[in-house]
Amino acid sequence: MTFAEPLIFEVGAPGRRCVQPPPDETAEISLDDLAVEPTLPVLPEVSELDLLRHFTRLSHRNFSIETHFYPLGSCTMKYNPKINERTARMSGFAHLHPYQSEADLQGALELMYELERALCAIAGMDRFTLQPAAGAHGEMTALLMARAYFDHKGERRTKILIPDSAHGTNPSSARLAGFKVVQVKSDARGNVDLEALKTHIDNEVACLMLTNPSTLGVFEENIVEIQRLIHEAGGLLYYDGANLNATMGYARPGDMGFDLVHINLHKTFSTPHGGGGPGAGPVGARGELVDFLPSPLIEKNDGAFRFADAKHSIGRVRSFFGNFLILVRAYTYMRAHGPEGLKSVSEHAVLNANYLLSRLKEAYTLAYDRRAMHEFVLTAKRQKEKGVRALDIAKKLLDYGFHAPTVYFPLIVEEAIMVEPTETESRQTLDAFAEAMLAIARDAESDPQQVLGAPRGLPVTRLDEVGAARNPVLRWETPS
Ligand SMILES: *Cc1c(COP(=O)(O)O)cnc(C)c1O
Repeated sequence: MTFAEPLIFEVGAPGRRCVQPPPDETAEISLDDLAVEPTLPVLPEVSELDLLRHFTRLSHRNFSIETHFYPLGSCTMKYNPKINERTARMSGFAHLHPYQSEADLQGALELMYELERALCAIAGMDRFTLQPAAGAHGEMTALLMARAYFDHKGERRTKILIPDSAHGTNPSSARLAGFKVVQVKSDARGNVDLEALKTHIDNEVACLMLTNPSTLGVFEENIVEIQRLIHEAGGLLYYDGANLNATMGYARPGDMGFDLVHINLHKTFSTPHGGGGPGAGPVGARGELVDFLPSPLIEKNDGAFRFADAKHSIGRVRSFFGNFLILVRAYTYMRAHGPEGLKSVSEHAVLNANYLLSRLKEAYTLAYDRRAMHEFVLTAKRQKEKGVRALDIAKKLLDYGFHAPTVYFPLIVEEAIMVEPTETESRQTLDAFAEAMLAIARDAESDPQQVLGAPRGLPVTRLDEVGAARNPVLRWETPS
């Protein structure tokens, strides 16, 4: 069904109204009295039904996790169970005001206290701050803590080591926190290249930032050796926990030797994100680093919960308590699953990824021919020889009713197509996706025109994305 949906401004007619407010008898200030040249806002003039139909029709065009499979790699776009929304909406949570007294906030503080303990258990850390509003915010928080830690010890360390497979937020956070970024090569198996790493290690290194499993979807096989090398040089290890969905209950960053971690609650613990919605990126610390956590922390004394400051706190990184209702959702998800349930989430995430990998590895080329964790990276190198690129394949999937996977990331894989099915998809959905990918591979081989220029069956076809980014049209001009 493809028909053009007009702009809301094109739907109405002059003078048409949704609601008719009673005449305003209080207005005494005329715009003429204001010193500025009055410019009245141009608003759509529509009836309630016009308005409703317009937005309802637009809403039906959304790709969402509740209508379509979303095999987006690296960012764990999993289903958000509805029970999370039920608890987040409970009046005792939703209508709290952060300026209420500590006594009034006891329930909220208890939830945060329990969430912190659960995160410590899952990550093998001593304490967590729940303040950071996203993973990237957590990265910066942790690096500011690392800075404060080395300042405190009187050491001047300026470098952050980051593998070339890392998410772009890692180098950005390092720069924002005032460090120099040093890129470390990956080897042919997708691990950190140990020889390259050794050449970069010296007493200027503050921290190595590592995602494990990495954005290539593989577990770092040399993590024990890596943490030994970094720690021997007096540096710290930072764990980017965006891929925790692969390892919950099986492997803990604390046990791997990481000193600092962030966890994206909106990814692993299923709170809505992707449309720029609120997230939460709690940061965990171990040992001496706990003293540098942001304020406030929450402590329990004699059954009461209260705010406290770490000894050398770096201060606040977010107003109040972070995105509190995101914390409620994540806590609900943990309690609804329980420890065994969370383990089984990871098991199914890994099983689903490897099932798809095995179905697709003949038709496409695997970037790293290894068992995957929760996601894997294909390359469209072979299809490219026929003129079909990763972008065309991603767009063609839309015609089959699947959201496009992440493409051209990680940057080190040519024509990358990154697939993360997550644990919530059924065997039938995975098979349907595999069949679509295989059909596209056959078309790319025998009839590339079928794939080029896709999507064709959607309300909008191939968009000029570069044009849209370079010359955005952000203003609606009323036709004269
Ligand atoms: C999503 C992601 C981040 C950034 O997290 P945000 O919550 O989006 O700020 C960092 N690293 C990796 C590997 C990611 O997938």
